Amino acid sequence: MYRNYTDRRDFSMRTYRKKTRPALVRGLCIGGDAPVSIQTMTSVPLENIDATIDQINRLHREGAQLVRLAVLNEAALGPLKKVRESVDVPLSADIHFNHRLAIGAIECGIDKIRINPGNIGGVDRVREVVRAATEHSVPIRIGVNGGSLDRRKYPEMTAQALAASALEHVEILEECGFYDIVVSLKSSDILLTAEANIIFSDMKEYPLHVGLTEAGYGLSCVVQSSILIGHLLLKGLGDTVRVSMTGDPIEEIHVAKKILASIGERLEPLRIIACPTCGRTGPSVNLEEIAREVENAIANEFSDVLRALGRELVVAIMGCEVNGPGEASHAHVGVAGARSGNFLLFARGERKGKITRGEVIRAVREEVMSLIETWSRER
Ligand code: SF4
Repeated sequence: MYRNYTDRRDFSMRTYRKKTRPALVRGLCIGGDAPVSIQTMTSVPLENIDATIDQINRLHREGAQLVRLAVLNEAALGPLKKVRESVDVPLSADIHFNHRLAIGAIECGIDKIRINPGNIGGVDRVREVVRAATEHSVPIRIGVNGGSLDRRKYPEMTAQALAASALEHVEILEECGFYDIVVSLKSSDILLTAEANIIFSDMKEYPLHVGLTEAGYGLSCVVQSSILIGHLLLKGLGDTVRVSMTGDPIEEIHVAKKILASIGERLEPLRIIACPTCGRTGPSVNLEEIAREVENAIANEFSDVLRALGRELVVAIMGCEVNGPGEASHAHVGVAGARSGNFLLFARGERKGKITRGEVIRAVREEVMSLIETWSRER
């Protein structure tokens, strides 16, 4: 029976999401019932104001909902203020070692600060930062990292130690009557980071910023980040994500969007399913080429309308007549290659007939248009 893969919201593993205490960051809600948000960090020096503004805007256009900037010294506060006044995107200031920078960033109008209380210089200084944050309604992210764990208190870097360190710092803020808190527990190890987040989430109701730190670059980063973030989100944990990737932060956004779309946290207007091909694939069936052509043709033309309709279109590109028809008939539209070089066309579960290689794009496009018309009428 025809069954497409569009409504993954029905899956039971997605029905549980831990409800956390929401934190509002310049209109962006982190936690509570808010969708999981995507954040990243600029990679250009803050002193280069124009380049920073340009990068923030580019990241925002790609899908970043919160952008963090490293504030290294007092000279950076002037540029921070200018940047804050020049963009609409929620901004977070990343502060290490100097509590006066955190207070200065808050006074510059920053929307959120990230501190690691373990290296900010003692409880009294944390309290001063909390006072300023309270006055300006600025949430604080307590960011505990494996690399900066206080080894005098926690000689061994374990998941329990990361969670205990986060709890200790959260309690300092709570003692000051401050609850506008987001927490991150990170390391470069997936198992350690996952366990630390799970332990902490049993202790407190604050929203979790999830991701690895120093996740590397390229494929390794994509795989590791996907496993960690996907695992926690599927367990119902995590309110905002960052894929920490060496290189252009734009790539982080692409990966984060794909992770969220893959588990139904985001609408992905077009999803292409393609088989890996094998010895059954006909010699003239170049599946990768066809999949790319279909994706380019459909994504460019129909993504906006699909997004507006709130629909996810699944197109299957399969390599043979043996196993291909099953998958192709489960998608909204599908083609399965034959050894002859021709293709079987499927739409909404029905076999529509045989087409040549040259007819694939036009035929898929027509079926997609017909489906969109139906969805538009059903609205
Ligand atoms: S669908 Fe056919 S060609 Fe593709 S991997 Fe499966 S058996 Fe091989």
